[in-house]
Amino acid sequence: MTLRIGVIGTGMIGQDHIYRITNTLTGAEIVAVTDVNQEQAKEVVEREKLNAKVYDNGQDLIHSDEVDAIIVTSWGPTHEEFVLAAIDAGKPVFCEKPLATTAEGCKRIIDAEMAHGKQLVQVGFMRRFDQGYRALKKVLDKEEIGHPLMLHCAHRNPEAPGFSGDMAITDSLVHEIDVLRWLLDGDDYVSAQILTPRKTRFATEGLQDPHIMLLETKQGIRISVESFVNCQYGYDIQCQVVGDTGTANLPEPATVPIRSEAKASTEVFTDWKDRFVDAFNVEFQEWIDSTLKGEMNGPSAWDGYVVAVTTDTCVEAKRTGQIEPISIPEIPEFYSKKIVNM
Ligand code: NAP
Repeated sequence: MTLRIGVIGTGMIGQDHIYRITNTLTGAEIVAVTDVNQEQAKEVVEREKLNAKVYDNGQDLIHSDEVDAIIVTSWGPTHEEFVLAAIDAGKPVFCEKPLATTAEGCKRIIDAEMAHGKQLVQVGFMRRFDQGYRALKKVLDKEEIGHPLMLHCAHRNPEAPGFSGDMAITDSLVHEIDVLRWLLDGDDYVSAQILTPRKTRFATEGLQDPHIMLLETKQGIRISVESFVNCQYGYDIQCQVVGDTGTANLPEPATVPIRSEAKASTEVFTDWKDRFVDAFNVEFQEWIDSTLKGEMNGPSAWDGYVVAVTTDTCVEAKRTGQIEPISIPEIPEFYSKKIVNM
């Protein structure tokens, strides 16, 4: 059986996902697309030689009998409306982050999904599908370094054109907020603080860069994540877990070590798409495979909600400069079996 997918939003990441589903992955076909920019949607259909209909709007696409499952890759503020409509239609929906732009919006989605009675929503936190993070999680799950005590992490981009305000938190650190909680088996955060070091000369006017995000979990694990979106030298993701009997590091992506001109070197990626291309492919292949089986195993709407609550608190902590408490409700039974997605 082939999963017939409709894509809402044919911008940058929507086009990437259409390409990977059409050319790299198996088990699915793009049969419908829509975008507020209809010309762009038509161009994508032609360029990728899709056998797909261009719909006038997301609602029509969701309710079409020809569409089995939905991918939402439109602008963030439209996600909630489309995810709610997909739940209403009883169709599986993969939504790129954010699930909704507010924690209240995520809560409305959770309530709708629980009322529907079956999980339909997966959120696009692709780092859980990266083989390096998965290998690190296996080490932690087997307690090879004992119990985790501290995490030291970094999220560096060479430059961030278009970044403004709190985007380093809301668009970039959200990935750490999700993947670190997942690494720690759903140990929810209880407080956040944002430190603002001396500003780099390469940040645009008005943009604070770098940041240090400090999180504490329910079990008392302390986490620091450096966010540096104008680091100049590359796209560099670091994560070290310190346990009570050892340390474990996120593996570096495989690149060829070179020795030349009296120097030893390895390449550092400059583009996040190259760093996580395999993770995106695994994420979508697993989503297609589980959807065809009628299952939902990836990051859930509850995960999207927890990330939204934490992100909101981090933004507030940046504003106040204080340690801010994070209040995550107890996970409902409906979602509790889905916290580990391996
Ligand atoms: P983008 O290039 O701006 O694409 C979004 C597309 O959605 C645009 O073509 C936009 O049209 C269209 N759109 C807006 N409102 C719509 C509506 N009501 N119905 C249909 N289409 C609509 O943005 P992007 O970079 O692809 O990002 C899309 C989403 O993916 C964002 O939420 C982003 O955070 C997420 N994302 C996730 C990752 C990740 O690492 N997982 C990476 C990149 C992006 P107009 O341009 O005409 O407004």
